[in-house]
Amino acid sequence: MITRKSQREIELMKTAGHIVALAHQAVKNMIKPGVSTYDVDQTVESIIESHDATPSFKGYHGFPSSACTSLNDEVVHGIPSKSRIMKKGDILKVDIGANYKGYHGDSAWTYAIGEIDAQTQKLLDVTEKALYEGIKSARVGFRLSDISHAIQTYTEAQGFAIVREFVGHGIGKKLHEDPQLPNYGPPGKGPVLKSGMVLAIEPMVNIGTHDVKVKTDQWTAVTSDGSLSAHFEHTVLITEDEPVLLTAL
Ligand code: MG
Ligand code: MG
Repeated sequence: MITRKSQREIELMKTAGHIVALAHQAVKNMIKPGVSTYDVDQTVESIIESHDATPSFKGYHGFPSSACTSLNDEVVHGIPSKSRIMKKGDILKVDIGANYKGYHGDSAWTYAIGEIDAQTQKLLDVTEKALYEGIKSARVGFRLSDISHAIQTYTEAQGFAIVREFVGHGIGKKLHEDPQLPNYGPPGKGPVLKSGMVLAIEPMVNIGTHDVKVKTDQWTAVTSDGSLSAHFEHTVLITEDEPVLLTAL
């Protein structure tokens, strides 16, 4: 069932989303060659906890950390580690969730570590733009798969591949609520969007094949061909007017 949030719930989700945005800002300021993914996780956790919130991911289905940190060919769900040290030219996906008074915000960003090559920069630009192409369809009267279709169409026209195994989702009292929101598919399908619905829209884009596999740690998903992958995500409130990005500063 897709819930529509009350004004009170929306206010709490705005705060949760703002805390997630502050954690991303802190990551952006500390990330550089020589920093470990564990350091990133510690930064995220301290920002979330200093704002009376708790990390949504820690303990979720047994996930051990506050942030998901996925390097280079890792797509999502990478586990922070003191031994994963970033170096110039890497890209790091940081996925952050915060629970504020029982309501969640969820946002992922891909960070360049120092200078990256032109193809990698294009991957980041296209994936971020794909997110905003999807957000354009997060409007009252559109259907859910209009978002999916906009993301896929834009991404594939740029020569990249959309990951299919992982999807966006409704969000609110639970981190993952109905509906599931694939990043591909024909337009005009699924539920009609209504005001008060909140969706985490999150394209994951690969340079090579869209296929992914899960590593032996049972968490980290990587591209099956070893190509680079990027991920951008916002928690988006549907209104009678423009969509509102709850996880943007
Ligand atoms: Mg996320
Ligand atoms: Mg999400």
